[in-house]
Amino acid sequence: MHEFAIAEGLVKIAQEELRKLGDPPPKPLAVHIAAGALNQIVKESLDLAFETLTADTPLAGACLVLRLIPAGGVCAKCGWEGSFPKPPFFCPKCESARVTLTSGRELYLESLEIEDVLTVDQTGSVL
Ligand SMILES: [Zn+2]
Repeated sequence: MHEFAIAEGLVKIAQEELRKLGDPPPKPLAVHIAAGALNQIVKESLDLAFETLTADTPLAGACLVLRLIPAGGVCAKCGWEGSFPKPPFFCPKCESARVTLTSGRELYLESLEIEDVLTVDQTGSVL
């Protein structure tokens, strides 16, 4: 279950960011993350891992909001550039397999939603 390892990294970063905001830290309402489709995250598994890892921490009770970034690429044969509707990754225009993936592997903490409507934008690489 690789969601657990992903959640572990995200929780660590979220906690560090939270600590920077004050002592005691403000109460987070939601943790927003952005994840490329190629990470093949199962949201239910990620939620469960997040819940388990944040129990008894300042992040307990915050909800996890996942923004999915579609896998994108460029075709070396016809020059097509865009997002793939779904794997396998062939060029949707000329059906060539000579495509280079340009997005879809991202995984980062996008923002922390804090009580008092204060949102702190934060970008940190996880993997
Ligand atoms: Zn093509």
